[in-house]
Amino acid sequence: MKLIGRAAALILALGLVTGCGRTREGNMVDLVLVNGKVWTGDAARPRAEAVAVGGGRILAVGTTAEMRKLSPSGIKLVDLGGALLLPGFIDSHTHFLAGGFALKSIDLRKAKTRQEFVARIAAKARELGPGRWVLNGDWDHQQFEPPELPRKEWIDAVTPANPVCVNRLDGHMILANSAALKLAGVTRATPVPPGGEIVLDPATGEPTGILKDTAMDLVYAQVPEPSFAEKLDAAQASLRHAAENGVTSVHEMADAASFEVFEELARQGRLTARVHVYIPISEVETLARLKVKSPFGNPYLKIAGLKGFVDGSLGSATAYFFDPYADDPKTSGLLHGQMFPEGVMERRILAADRAGLQLAIHAIGDRANSLLLDLYEKAEAANGPRDRRWRVEHAQHLRPADIERFGKLGLIAAVQPYHVIDDGRWAETKIGPERARTTYPFESLRRAGARLAFGSDWTVAPLSPVLGIYAATTRRTLDGAHPGGWVPEEKVSVEEAVRAYTVNGAWAEFAESFKGTIEPGKAADLVALDRDILTVPPEDIAGAKVTMTVFDGKILHRKDR
Ligand SMILES: [Zn+2]
Repeated sequence: MKLIGRAAALILALGLVTGCGRTREGNMVDLVLVNGKVWTGDAARPRAEAVAVGGGRILAVGTTAEMRKLSPSGIKLVDLGGALLLPGFIDSHTHFLAGGFALKSIDLRKAKTRQEFVARIAAKARELGPGRWVLNGDWDHQQFEPPELPRKEWIDAVTPANPVCVNRLDGHMILANSAALKLAGVTRATPVPPGGEIVLDPATGEPTGILKDTAMDLVYAQVPEPSFAEKLDAAQASLRHAAENGVTSVHEMADAASFEVFEELARQGRLTARVHVYIPISEVETLARLKVKSPFGNPYLKIAGLKGFVDGSLGSATAYFFDPYADDPKTSGLLHGQMFPEGVMERRILAADRAGLQLAIHAIGDRANSLLLDLYEKAEAANGPRDRRWRVEHAQHLRPADIERFGKLGLIAAVQPYHVIDDGRWAETKIGPERARTTYPFESLRRAGARLAFGSDWTVAPLSPVLGIYAATTRRTLDGAHPGGWVPEEKVSVEEAVRAYTVNGAWAEFAESFKGTIEPGKAADLVALDRDILTVPPEDIAGAKVTMTVFDGKILHRKDR
């Protein structure tokens, strides 16, 4: 956590005096990085040693000797000491504002036993004091021995005076305690909303406290809204976290409420990552009426387009499949509430597309993906050919024939490689070996002509492109069960993985002429790593550290080796 203050001190130590160099075009240079291994992403000059920056843009790329000429005394000169320099990472799928709240709240991700889960919730309730909600958590019951869903009875005794609403890390299930269920009026008799589930104890018929997908809203509706100051505070925590991870752009899968938070930070000049916000598809009419077209905004903050959902998640058994779950033959998953009433998603997709709004739609199960591809095909047939850059968020489980359709439609597969090594531990027990073969099929999608845009899905997974690249290139599950990689044919090369976090992320937001590569004229968003992940064995990538993050031409984060 060496932040802006430290970086600023370092720059001063390096010599910030008057005078300035100029490029041949006459642009003022204000920062020069030398002695690096620069991977540019630019086919015309794939590799370089040094970069000159000025006015927030990359001004020149070349050898250390060439760039030194642009830095007479007075210019900030950073010796990269052989570090790898990449375009700043673009995380194409985050819950960025929510992540800030998670950074500041209870962490159940590490609760590996029921006892630890209960103890952490008890401690948080004590810390907060009576009446305050215990929220977030990101628990994962697959870690428990044996894996079992938590129940309200586990925590009621330690939280008599605090409503508790803690989510599974995929965000598709919550555990509510009795106090929260009471506030929400949820009982055994509560009607189940479409696209949701209130889990009932088979013996007693009483709610267990687990609510899935749209049913979660029954409890969320009772959670008091944080103040605007708390939101600003959370967003800044997210921005610091992004800088530490080398992330200079994020795609925020958000609600309209988070937009105003980033807008305020942008207005104050404190937005230290470029934020590209997808608004819920239910807002299509508002945006269409305003004639907002994708992307709308400025280089710091944009309304990207619309985000929708076809289904739930694998971990919550709400991802929608053709065939039943292997471990629960009674269910094939659930369509999301946004798919009801029937036909509404099709109307919204058509309307969004007519209005020139980009779509980013969540589909995890094979049937959900198939349905979404049908809808995209219909919209293309109805509205004619155009450069749309439609996205499928997650694109997790695909029938082989549908992989080809991704290519034909020119889709962006907005996928999150860390899920492969995390969910890969248990995914096969849920879907069986046959479906596992075309699960997270990154390489097949790429070969079929889809563009891979990598992201974290933070807070579902860590906001670390380094870990994402490691996951995509090794597919080594976290339990060590697949040292050669789980479904190893679907590994991608390190260079493709880097591209999916830079060049392709820019393309996914129609910003390829502005960022995503290290070329003169592009945004000076850069990240330095302590090792050359392009040449070390892929197993060693996970240990790579971000040593410097440059955003908009300024050093945001710097960590000495
Ligand atoms: Zn997500």
